[in-house]
Amino acid sequence: MPSEFDLIQTYFNWNNKPSEEIGLIKGVVKGIGDDAAVLQVPSSKQLIVTTDTLISGVHFPEQTSPHAIGHKSLAVNLSDLAAMGADPAWFTLAITLPEQNKQWLTAFSKGIKALADKAEIQLIGGDTTKGPLSISITAMGLATSKQLMMRASAKDQDTIYVTNTLGDAAAGLAMLQQCFEGKEDDSCIEQLDYPIPRNQESKLIRQYANACLDISDGFLADLNHILKASKVGAVIDLDSIPLSIALQKINQQQALKYALTGGDDYELLFTIPQENQKTFENAVLKENLICKVVGTIDSSISGIRSTQNEVLSAEGYNHFK
Ligand code: ADP
Ligand code: MG
Repeated sequence: MPSEFDLIQTYFNWNNKPSEEIGLIKGVVKGIGDDAAVLQVPSSKQLIVTTDTLISGVHFPEQTSPHAIGHKSLAVNLSDLAAMGADPAWFTLAITLPEQNKQWLTAFSKGIKALADKAEIQLIGGDTTKGPLSISITAMGLATSKQLMMRASAKDQDTIYVTNTLGDAAAGLAMLQQCFEGKEDDSCIEQLDYPIPRNQESKLIRQYANACLDISDGFLADLNHILKASKVGAVIDLDSIPLSIALQKINQQQALKYALTGGDDYELLFTIPQENQKTFENAVLKENLICKVVGTIDSSISGIRSTQNEVLSAEGYNHFK
């Protein structure tokens, strides 16, 4: 059985050279190989830090491929950086494994490295232990204080947007759990296993938005986080909630339930002040990104209402006809 040192060298030390030989890549004074990493934070930037743990059977179905687990464990952390308006810089990886399975580790390492390379985030350390499968990543990003988007910054009459479409991952999970009614579509399972963190969208959104977060627990539950933090309410137009082609084909009440209350979307939910709306939408078009208006911040109400003035809540929606 290879030692822990060999395991780290084989699967996680992607540079294959001590970092001194590579020089200072993106502020890494010392990466993997010492007792701790040493990082140089540019004086003009703030350091943004986030941690997410994924446990087998809780945060991904047990049958999920190791390649997808690798991707998803980094993707959910990159999504948090996107939600803040920070550029990905570094991450650490703490992994607990029941056994040293070569095939599993190879696929996991490929999944995580493919996304790390794409997102230009560097693995700078971690921890490797034996036990039930769990992966904990701490991602670090950089941003100027002006770029940061806080949940507490939504203002009255801001326009509420989401990126892309909602509900596919929840539908994908229902398909895997064999409780999905309608035509099954692999694109939903793909969305569950390989969420795309919206760091590219974030770079644009942060130039115009007041508040932003990423949708991980469901649109209504996460919108509520912005509303509570900003002490405002919101009016949502249910007809404008963006649905994928796969969800447009199923019962629309069910599709809307996945989109409003299903988890694991990792799309951005953000608010744009009206005076920025036109320039923002032009920039979105120019960059070929997809952002859709779903409602308006309203400080004269509390909680979430539909345009028909019905009360909307994640809990209530399950009983909503
Ligand atoms: P220590 O016992 O001093 O904490 P470790 O043996 O745990 O050190 O780790 C040795 C080096 O390998 C450290 O630089 C650590 O950050 C890195 N490392 C350990 N596990 C991982 C991992 N899963 N991914 C990336 N780097 C790791
Ligand atoms: Mg040590």
